[in-house]
Amino acid sequence: MTSESLKTQYQQVRNQVQQLAQQVQNHRVQILAVSKVHSTAKIREAYALGARYFGENYAQELASKAEELSDLTDIRWSYIGHIQSNKIRLIVEHANEIQSLASLKHGKLIAKAADEFNKPNYPVFIAVNAEGEASKNGIPLDQVSPFVTELEAHCPSLEVQGLMCIPPRHYQDSLEKVPELYRELRNLANKVGQGRLSLGMSGDLRIAIEAGTDLVRIGTAIFGERPQKARQ
Ligand SMILES: *Cc1c(COP(=O)(O)O)cnc(C)c1O
Repeated sequence: MTSESLKTQYQQVRNQVQQLAQQVQNHRVQILAVSKVHSTAKIREAYALGARYFGENYAQELASKAEELSDLTDIRWSYIGHIQSNKIRLIVEHANEIQSLASLKHGKLIAKAADEFNKPNYPVFIAVNAEGEASKNGIPLDQVSPFVTELEAHCPSLEVQGLMCIPPRHYQDSLEKVPELYRELRNLANKVGQGRLSLGMSGDLRIAIEAGTDLVRIGTAIFGERPQKARQ
């Protein structure tokens, strides 16, 4: 993809999000630019266009990109990938927040690392697995509230932002089913921590905004198709 098309796509996404947010709920919707697998050169381009908030899925990749781009002092990194215990220190060291928290054990390790790196009130979102899919990490909908209560009791130094959800796979074939789930998530998120909701990706950002999300996580629509990459 050329720089010109990144510019066009980024501006398109920004305009679309702004317009929908105004129409639907008259409040600001943040764009998390999901840069996983894309080069630091592309991240610099998006930064030059005004993007400051970037999402990464792999701990080592996050760490090397954050180090390489450390001259961009106001850049903010969000970790949205699968969490492994032995990578938590590395993630917390480099990310400003974690959106994919789904276990108490990981919560405790994040709190410990945040303390070590002197990052008080470290922001976390709880990942929701809306239909209990085995292939996906996340807290089932009906267990979110008790999980948050337990997390806040054990890890008072974490600042629970709200909920993050990737819709169940089959929803991709039947988008008309999504809004009901999204409204449910919106209502539930209102009762969790700071009451924020992270919902919506390139394919469903419109209905996520219509359902009242606070932030959308957009990769492909900004950066183009992801190059193939072996998982770490
Ligand atoms: C990759 C990823 C995205 C971005 O998906 P696109 O379809 O490329 O916009 C959003 N959220 C999570 C958790 C991801 O892993």
